[in-house]
Amino acid sequence: MQVPAHVEYERASSVAHALSLLTRYGPEARILAGGHSLIPMMKLRLAQPETLIDINGLSELSYIEMTGGELRIGTLTRHAQLLDSAAAGERFPILHDAEKVIADPVVRNWGTVGGSLCQADPSEDLSAAFAALKASMVICGVDGSRTVSAREFHTGPYETVIAVGEMLTEIRIPVRPGGGSAYAKVGRRVGDWPVGAAGVAIWLDGEVVADAGIGLTAVGARQFAAPEAEEFLRGAPATDESFARAGEIAAEHCRPTSDRRGPAEYKRHLACELTARALHRALRRAWGG
Ligand SMILES: Cc1cc2nc3c(=O)[nH]c(=O)nc-3n(C[C@H](O)[C@H](O)[C@H](O)COP(=O)(O)OP(=O)(O)OC[C@H]3O[C@@H](n4cnc5c(N)ncnc54)[C@H](O)[C@@H]3O)c2cc1C
Repeated sequence: MQVPAHVEYERASSVAHALSLLTRYGPEARILAGGHSLIPMMKLRLAQPETLIDINGLSELSYIEMTGGELRIGTLTRHAQLLDSAAAGERFPILHDAEKVIADPVVRNWGTVGGSLCQADPSEDLSAAFAALKASMVICGVDGSRTVSAREFHTGPYETVIAVGEMLTEIRIPVRPGGGSAYAKVGRRVGDWPVGAAGVAIWLDGEVVADAGIGLTAVGARQFAAPEAEEFLRGAPATDESFARAGEIAAEHCRPTSDRRGPAEYKRHLACELTARALHRALRRAWGG
């Protein structure tokens, strides 16, 4: 059995305590949330932190609530909680679509929304969903907090803008009228990481797309987003032709690589097809269907 290297362990008793521990231990400290990604990486020596700061006791970081026209999700919210949340599912069905196909109930019961985003795996499902929803992330340090858009949050594979001494505390999604959203994923088997997936959100003005958000994962899309396809859709009629073209544009701008999950050209095909499919589903939902 693989065993992680020796590591110090601290259990945070509040957010302020977690931040002071992060500051005290510096760059070799890591937050422990669900541990579903971090612990396997430590076993494989792909991560070798000197100190783990366990935030699992911080119930103040586990919530889903509507405040000030935004849905706010605490970083320690488990996947299963998000999947069970009517407040999230009614306003943003894309989140339930995505959560239904993330891993299995064991992982979803303990894995966290914030841990998934901070892991920054290039195949992460929620990163694409939050990019589509144009969410923002609240990052805290001992000197205060700052907010960055979902599209600024990831700086590359397994990298984010979170600096030494900081942690993610909350995800915020603006609630806008006239919208619909959906997520479509292809995996090799049930509960697996995606071969490719697309999440979309559209806002209508009559028959016209007033605004659109398109998120892609596992296909090499910069910042998990497809801004060129969004730009094409803005002001376009909400038709089969527009959605097919948006899919093509999204596929043209991503940079998939061939790996065990599939060849690059197949992933590009998925980016096109799944974007169009999710747009159709989002449109039906925007119309109340
Ligand atoms: C078998 C299996 C299948 C999976 N399938 C999928 C899938 O299909 N799709 C998918 O998207 N995901 C999948 N996952 C990943 C799953 O969603 C995990 O929950 C997620 O990777 C990490 O969440 P966690 O809470 O366990 O984070 P952890 O493993 O505890 O942490 C991950 C990283 O984030 C950092 N971190 C955590 N919280 C914070 C914070 N608040 N501030 C700063 N840094 C923080 C940690 O220090 C660590 O570096 C799968 C995982 C497993 C084990």
